Amino acid sequence: MNKIKAYGADEQGANLKEMTIERRDLQPNDVQIKITYCGVCHSDIHQVDNDWNNSKYPVVPGHEIIGRVVAVGDDVKNYKKDDLVGVGCMVDSCQECGACEDDMEQFCEKGMTATYNGKNKHTGKNTYGGYSEMIVVREEFVLSVPNNLDEKATAPLLCAGITTYSPLAHWNVKKGDKVGVIGLGGLGHMGIKFAHAMGAHVVMITTSPGKAEDAKSLGADEVLISKDEEAMKKHQGSFDFLLNTVPVKHDINPYLQLLKRDSTMVMVGAIEPLEPMHGGNLIMGRKRVAGSLIGGIKETQEMLDFCGKHNIVSDIEMINMDNINDAYQRVKDSDVKYRFVIDMESLKN
Ligand code: NAP
Ligand code: ZN
Repeated sequence: MNKIKAYGADEQGANLKEMTIERRDLQPNDVQIKITYCGVCHSDIHQVDNDWNNSKYPVVPGHEIIGRVVAVGDDVKNYKKDDLVGVGCMVDSCQECGACEDDMEQFCEKGMTATYNGKNKHTGKNTYGGYSEMIVVREEFVLSVPNNLDEKATAPLLCAGITTYSPLAHWNVKKGDKVGVIGLGGLGHMGIKFAHAMGAHVVMITTSPGKAEDAKSLGADEVLISKDEEAMKKHQGSFDFLLNTVPVKHDINPYLQLLKRDSTMVMVGAIEPLEPMHGGNLIMGRKRVAGSLIGGIKETQEMLDFCGKHNIVSDIEMINMDNINDAYQRVKDSDVKYRFVIDMESLKN
C-alpha cells in the first residue's frame, strides 16, 4: 500500500480538506499514474453532498484525470512510463457480461467500479478519485490522450466530453440537424462543441442571458433563453434532438414542446425524480425521452481521438487544490466558465 495526499470530504456536505489515503500496490495489469490535472464535475458535488444517497465517506472526488504513467505491472501491454494518459468515471468492470462484451462497461451487469465512491475489487474498500497525487488503475480503463491538445484542457473530456459525445453519436446527430443543448455548464459547453463539429445547427438553451455571447463563441448558432416564453414558442416543434444537462429536478415539459415529431430529448443531468411529465407532450408527436450514462472505454477513446483530430478541448479555469470549496460554490451558482481544472501540483505545497 502507498500512502498519498488527497483532498476529500469527511461527511455529507462538508468542506473538502487535505487527507491521507492509500493506493493499492501495483498488480500485474495495473498502471500507476501521477496525476497532473483533474477536472471538477458537478457529480463531484452531488456525491460530496450525498444527493444520490449512496455516498461513503470520506469521499475523495475526481473523475476527469490526466497524468503521466510512472510505473506499469508486468502484464501491461499498451502503456509505458511517461505516457500521457487519462482516467474517467470507471476503473474496473467484470469484462465478461453482455454489456462489457459490447464495449459498454458503464452498464456492466455486475456493476462497474466507479473511480470514486465505488468498491475497490482488490482491497474491498471505497475507491478514491483524482483529487490526489497518484492513482492505480487496471490497464483496460486507462485512456490514451492525444499529444497535440493542451494537457490541462483535456481533463474535462474524460467525463464532460464523453457524456455529451456519446448521446450525440448514438442518436446519430448529423449535418443540418437542429440540436438544442440545455444548460451551459461543464457538460453543456462540450455538447455545443461536439454538435457543432458534427455539423449540426446548434441552439444553446439557457437560463442565463449573460452567457449568450460565450455560447456563440463556443459554436452555438443561436441562443434561446428558456425563461422567455415567447421565444420558446417560436422554436416549438422544431428540434431534431435535445441534450438536457440540467443538474437538478426541473420541469421538462417546456423542452418537450420544442421537439419535432419522432424526435428525442436525452437526459444526462438530473439523476433524481423530475417534475411530473404531461403524457400529452410525448403522445402528440410520438416524442421520446431517453437517458445516457458517460460512455464505454472504446467510445471514450474514440471521443479523445475525435478531439485530437478536430482540436477540441474544454474551456477551463485553473484552480489550486485549496480553492476547491469556492469553486464548488460557483458551480452551484451556475457560475463556471466552463470547467474548473485543479492543478495537482498545488496539492504538494
Ligand atoms: P454544471 O457545470 O453545474 O452545469 C449545469 C448547467 O445547468 C448550469 O450551468 C446552468 O446553465 C444549468 N442549470 C442549473 N440549474 C438549473 C435549473 N434549475 N434549471 C435549468 N437549468 C439549470 O454541471 P455539469 O458538470 O455540466 O453537470 C450537469 C449534470 O450532469 C450534473 O447533475 C452531473 O451530475 C450530471 N452528469 C451526468 C453524467 C452522466 O453520465 N449522465 C456525467 C457527468 C455529469 P445555464 O446557466 O446555461 O442555464
Ligand atoms: Zn463527471
